[in-house]
Amino acid sequence: MDTIIQGISNFRGSVFPGQQAVYERLVRDGQQPKALIIACADSRVAPEHITQAGPGELFVCRNAGNIVPPFSQQNGGVSSAIEYAVVALGVRDVVICGHSDCGAMKGLMKPEALESMPNVAAWLRHSHAASQIVCEAYPAGLDPKDHHRALALENVVVQLNHLRTHPSVAAGLAKGELRLHGWFFEIETGAVLAYCGQRGRFVPVAEADGSSLPVAQAPSPRVAAPEIALPQAAE
Ligand SMILES: [Zn+2]
Repeated sequence: MDTIIQGISNFRGSVFPGQQAVYERLVRDGQQPKALIIACADSRVAPEHITQAGPGELFVCRNAGNIVPPFSQQNGGVSSAIEYAVVALGVRDVVICGHSDCGAMKGLMKPEALESMPNVAAWLRHSHAASQIVCEAYPAGLDPKDHHRALALENVVVQLNHLRTHPSVAAGLAKGELRLHGWFFEIETGAVLAYCGQRGRFVPVAEADGSSLPVAQAPSPRVAAPEIALPQAAE
């Protein structure tokens, strides 16, 4: 804890004075984060660090396995964070960020290792679809390294599907006001891959060109009953 306490001291003494105006503005005007990022709680996967974002720029929710439970009547921290970010803060981008060497994915591959962690085991049920995809849609006999990578990537896609079950996200997508992203951070190389919904695969985020960022789901307003939603042609 000593280094952590020292960090607080350094922040107060050296960092905060230079950023005080920013913090004061964030209190005066309120936060207007650019995106909601749901990432793994892994200590090596810090969204603010990876994106070089400052205070007030990202609304972050982290948990073991960057999981989004499907919407249910049961209240939960992830559901509340999503609803608050979309409805109250009006974020237009939601990112699910998985990563290499993920302990949660290792736990999925070795359920016996979770016997002493019943809560983790139960939580990881939200990733079972990813396990089944890797077992049935990938070649049999993958080596553990490839199996783990496939599982971590498929898990991001599964959680994107869960995200769409949340009412605030479903409505935001129908209105064309939300964009969904699936990212994968390679700890060992520092690279970020992004899921391209059109191609159905992850591709490297092009360096220095934000406009070419592949997206899992681009804003595309749609309603199932356009004859009701669209203004009637004048007769
Ligand atoms: Zn992880």
